[in-house]
Amino acid sequence: MKQQVLVLGGAGYIGSHTVYALVESGYDVIVADNLETGYRQAVHPKASFYRGDIRDRDFLDDLLSRSDVGAVIHFAANSLVGESMTNPLKYYDNNVNGTRILLQSLVAHDVKRIVFSSTAATYGEPERVPILESDPTHPTNTYGETKLSMEKMFRWTEVAHGVRYVSLRYFNASGAHESGRIGEAHNPETHLVPLVLQAALGKRPKVDIYGDDYDTPDGTCIRDYIHVCDLAQAHILAMEYLLKGSPSDIFNLGNGNGFSVKEVIRAAERVVGRPIPNEIAPRRAGDPAQLVASSEKIRRVLGWNPQRTDIDGIVASAWAWHQAHPDGFGGE
Ligand code: UDP
Repeated sequence: MKQQVLVLGGAGYIGSHTVYALVESGYDVIVADNLETGYRQAVHPKASFYRGDIRDRDFLDDLLSRSDVGAVIHFAANSLVGESMTNPLKYYDNNVNGTRILLQSLVAHDVKRIVFSSTAATYGEPERVPILESDPTHPTNTYGETKLSMEKMFRWTEVAHGVRYVSLRYFNASGAHESGRIGEAHNPETHLVPLVLQAALGKRPKVDIYGDDYDTPDGTCIRDYIHVCDLAQAHILAMEYLLKGSPSDIFNLGNGNGFSVKEVIRAAERVVGRPIPNEIAPRRAGDPAQLVASSEKIRRVLGWNPQRTDIDGIVASAWAWHQAHPDGFGGE
């Protein structure tokens, strides 16, 4: 029989795509989500769903004592760079304090394998690209700082209690599931690809380019865009790696290709077949100029092999979702 997997934050963008991948691979999936930023409709119908918050110890204890969870995948966090700069304590509360409570509950219930979401924002302004996992971590925003604190908390919890973990440092997730049933839907939306596509749909007048005076070839920030389904697959590989007894580790999760904000807009224009209104705006606080992964380690150690690496293809998959769901899950 396949393992029972608990997915925390499984109603969010990346969580919901990972739940689909887990169900498609035959796992028995339990989803917990407080639905603060996630959507009940995004949870795969074959997964069991419980509404609750990771900061609620009783909720977690109850869930773990009623199930036979072999591994946890933890997405339940706040993840907006901009918001983390204006409301840092919200990030310390949900991401750091929430993870502390989760770990206390996992230790109490003897659950010893966890895959969790970290971020390229742990590196801050990189000294070189592509970035290696062993490169220095100096976050330039609170979001990255809280994720780095989580990584450290996991490390020391393993030393004391033997909870093994894989930390996946995501670069920029984009795109949507090919079934057309789930995709990226944040409210308010802050991410580049959906904002560009909303501008293409006329749902917003234009997309702002946050700064064109960075030290990059066209002056706009460079990011490594990775298809959300490739990202989801990496979680299954990481979980199976832990289930077979392999040691805790940290992996970058990006394709190793950088695209500037202007290049993403141009890719979207090719996909939608028309110009997309855009305007240069001030820089956004906390944004490093360039974040591009070395994905050598995750390919080598976990055997990860992304299938959807072409930027036009990634944007096209997001476009299919946005055209079919112009109001996200709100239109359903
Ligand atoms: N960005 C932009 N305009 C927007 C939203 C984002 O120019 O309306 C830029 C942002 O500065 C960053 C890149 O697009 O360089 C990706 O930002 P996003 O918020 O999608 O992801 P993040 O890199 O913060 O995880």
